[in-house]
Amino acid sequence: MKKRKLMGGFNRFRLILTLGLAVLLPAAALIVLNFYQLRSFERDKVLEKTIDRDFQEVLAFSEKTMNKKIYAKVDEAREMFPAPEDPEREEKLNKILAENPVFTHAFLFDEQGDVFQTQPSQESDKYVREEHDRLEDSYRAWFSSKQETRSLVEMLQKNAQHIYFGADQAKRADGPGYLLTAVFVLPNLPGDRMVIGGVAFDPCYMKTFFPAMLNELVKDKSEQGGNSVAMIIYHLDPDMREVKPMAATSGWGEGKPEVSRKFEDVFKGLSLGIKFQGTSVQQLGESWMHRNFIILGILSALIVIGLILTKHVVSKEVALAKLKSDFVSNVSHELRTPLALIRLYAETLELGRITTKEKKHDYYKIIRKESERLTSLINNILDFSRIEAGHKEYEFRDTDIADLVRNTLDSYRYQIEQQGFTLKEEIDESVPTVCVDREAIARALLNLMNNALKYSTEDKFLRVKLYRENGSVKLEVEDHGIGITSREQTKIFEKFYRTGDPLVHNTKGSGLGLSLVRHISDAHGGSIDVDSIPGKGSRFTLTLPLNGKTRFAAAHA
Ligand code: ADP
Repeated sequence: MKKRKLMGGFNRFRLILTLGLAVLLPAAALIVLNFYQLRSFERDKVLEKTIDRDFQEVLAFSEKTMNKKIYAKVDEAREMFPAPEDPEREEKLNKILAENPVFTHAFLFDEQGDVFQTQPSQESDKYVREEHDRLEDSYRAWFSSKQETRSLVEMLQKNAQHIYFGADQAKRADGPGYLLTAVFVLPNLPGDRMVIGGVAFDPCYMKTFFPAMLNELVKDKSEQGGNSVAMIIYHLDPDMREVKPMAATSGWGEGKPEVSRKFEDVFKGLSLGIKFQGTSVQQLGESWMHRNFIILGILSALIVIGLILTKHVVSKEVALAKLKSDFVSNVSHELRTPLALIRLYAETLELGRITTKEKKHDYYKIIRKESERLTSLINNILDFSRIEAGHKEYEFRDTDIADLVRNTLDSYRYQIEQQGFTLKEEIDESVPTVCVDREAIARALLNLMNNALKYSTEDKFLRVKLYRENGSVKLEVEDHGIGITSREQTKIFEKFYRTGDPLVHNTKGSGLGLSLVRHISDAHGGSIDVDSIPGKGSRFTLTLPLNGKTRFAAAHA
């Protein structure tokens, strides 16, 4: 006994140790690690920094894309520029303007003189004319200084693209615009020639160019997935306090850019900005953190639930394994005792030492009783194994249940009385016939009575009561025995289960009887209930429905 208890304790300890080492520790370590990692992400603003880096890249790429377009246009015009000594240079500049409506002016400055042509269609515009004169004057003034011209030409020669961009504000009837000019050295001219060509972009073209570019870039970015972004091009405000937008994508709304980049090469004086549509990096960071903490919390809860479930299941398995090993030892003990007795009495009789008739009669009775006990035990085990294998079949027949109970009692009466029990029979003869399996009901009753005898001490009392109540027939077996604690009352119907009462452990049993009774009552569509007070006694009630068979048939249809 002690050894078995020790084994049980050891198993549980080992189970807890295994669960602890194999699951709990790594899971807890993972959770704690994740938690601290998230905290450090939060502290170091990892997400914000990642987004910032991504935005910087997007802006750099955007600037490059926009520059490329403008460079391509200027390059195209540059290739067409006439040589300074070309007598048709004015016509050729006009041709450039005619073929490239994106330019308003095209000009050529040379030591011999300058040509400054304007798009013929725009010449009637007073603002354009003013612009023509202003630009021509300022370039001429600038070009008159030999030194400045030389340093510009040298700078352009060194520059890989040979182009330099300048920006100015343009005035037009519909308001101000962005005037982008490009100056360059002509191709195929020796490096020491002081010749400068140039074009000025039409401010109206820039008004469509910027939004179109921004939309295209934002589209490209949104195709890569993630939150949709909005972009803006704005005038650079030296103190960065006010953003004066020049062009923005539709989702811009209000507010400042999250990240911005000053155009250095082409679009001088302008900046490019980016932000998320409808949210901010800070909000995103917060909700990301929030989500991660929630996921971590749910995961932790799941792990804990999983652990509890595992422990529960494993404990159940351990308990069942223990019950099974108890069962084997109980059953072998139960089989051995009647067999030993039968053998002992049979041998004694065989030796012919018993002379008196009464003694012989007693011995025969013991042999019969013990073999009956053996039979009932083996029947229980056989029934149990049939049930376990799903082969148990019942034969339902209309039965006079009062008669069945009386007959079963009669066959058991001798044993009851011999053990000194007071038997109270309360059989209501008017109980109608019930459709049952005779053998099964008799076995259930025998098991219940057998338990009442086994688990009674001083007060040897047994009451068997049969009566009708509403739509069912009830069979009660009551004793004044050791009783069952309420905690164990549901468990006793489980297979192999035996209560922890010391008397139970000193009494032979397999823990199968009540599980069979429950199976029988279930098969009849009825139920088995127990009402018990420890130390006072127990009352088992088997309820059989009067229309049991039909109900059972319906349940299994
Ligand atoms: P067994 O009697 O072979 O151990 P059962 O399935 O018949 O198995 O009973 C299960 C357990 O329920 C018993 O071991 C005992 O602890 C408890 N029990 C059953 N009937 C009674 C009763 N009449 N009084 C007290 N305890 C009972």
